[in-house]
Amino acid sequence: MPDRAQAVSDRLASRELGALVVTAPANVRWLTGFTGSAGLAVVGPGKERHFFTDFRYEEQSADQLVDDWERHIVVDSIAAAGELLAERQSGRPLRVGFDDAQLSVALYRSLEKACGEGIELVAAGGLVEEPRSVKDSAEVEAIAAAASLADQTLTQVLERGLVGRTEREVATDIELAARTLGASGMSFPPIVASGAHGALPHAEPREVAIPKDVLVTIDWGVTLDGYASDCTRTFATGEIGSEEREIYDLVLAAEESALAACRAGINAKELDAVARELIKAAGRGDQFGHGLGHGVGIEVHEGPRLSWRSTDELKEGQIVTIEPGVYVPGVAGVRIEDLVVVETAGARVLTGLPKQLQTVV
Ligand code: ZN
Ligand code: ZN
Repeated sequence: MPDRAQAVSDRLASRELGALVVTAPANVRWLTGFTGSAGLAVVGPGKERHFFTDFRYEEQSADQLVDDWERHIVVDSIAAAGELLAERQSGRPLRVGFDDAQLSVALYRSLEKACGEGIELVAAGGLVEEPRSVKDSAEVEAIAAAASLADQTLTQVLERGLVGRTEREVATDIELAARTLGASGMSFPPIVASGAHGALPHAEPREVAIPKDVLVTIDWGVTLDGYASDCTRTFATGEIGSEEREIYDLVLAAEESALAACRAGINAKELDAVARELIKAAGRGDQFGHGLGHGVGIEVHEGPRLSWRSTDELKEGQIVTIEPGVYVPGVAGVRIEDLVVVETAGARVLTGLPKQLQTVV
C-alpha cells in the first residue's frame, strides 16, 4: 500500500496543525488498512503515526495494519489519544485537527476532556478525504471489479423478467444474485421503481407488481474487497408513452454529453452544468433536482461532489458517477448512471451495460 499517511502528514502544516485525530471508519481504513469498526488514528508530523483500538481488535489490527503504525490496545481509544496528545503539548497550545464531519458531539467532548487545556481542537474536514478521493491503481481495479460484478448481477436478474414481479422481489433478487456471484454486500439497498414511483429519486421498492408498458428505474451497487460500485439503468416493460420516451432520450443525451465533457481539470460545477443546461433547454430544469454525481470508493458516496454548488475540481484518478435524472411527478422518472475514472484524456467508463432503451418484460 502506498504511504497514505505521508500525504496527510504533508498537509498538516498547510492548516497549521500539530496532529490530526482520525475517527471516521472509512478514513481510518484508507489510512491504516484496518477494516474494523473501532479504530482511531493519530497522524503527526514526519513519521509519527499512532493507531488505537480495544482488545476485541487486537489480532485483526495486528494482521491488517501497515507496518509503520504504532499500535495501542486500550480501553478507550479517544481518551488514550487525548492523553497521548496532551503529553506532547509543551508550553504553547497545540492545534489538533479532527474529523468534524463524523465525530459525534459526545465523542468530541471526551476528546476535549482527555486533551486538556493545552490543546486547541480544530475542525479539519477534508484532510483525509481529499487525498482519499484520488484512487491508486489497486483501488481502480477493485472498483472496476465491483462494477463488473454489478453488471453481471443485473444481467442475470433481467433474464428472469420484470413484469409481474414486485419491486421488492426484483430488489431481493439483485441482492441474492450479487451475493451468489461473490459480492461481499450491497453498496446500498437496491432501488427498483416502476411507473410514477420512478419519479422519486430515492424510491423504496414496494410490494407492488411491475406492470407492462411502464419505465422501471433500477439503481444498484455492490461491495467487493472493501470498495463500492454504483450504477443506474432505466428499462421499458413494453410500449411507453411519448413523454416517457422524450424524457428517456433527454436524460441519455445529458448523460452522454456530461461523460464526453468529463476529464481531469474540469470544475465539478461546470460538468454539472453540461447536463443541467441541456435538461433546462428542454424545459425540464426543475425536474432534475439532484446533483450530477459523486465520488465512489470505500464509501458509495464520497468526494468529490458533482453539483451546481460544488467547488471541487476533478483530478486524475478520481472515480465519480455521472447520473442525471428527470422526474415527472405522477408520470415517470428516468435516471442513467455510469461510474467513471477521471483521466486527463477524458472519462474511462467502468459500468458496461447498454444505455439505449431496453425493453424487458
Ligand atoms: Zn446509484
Ligand atoms: Zn450514485
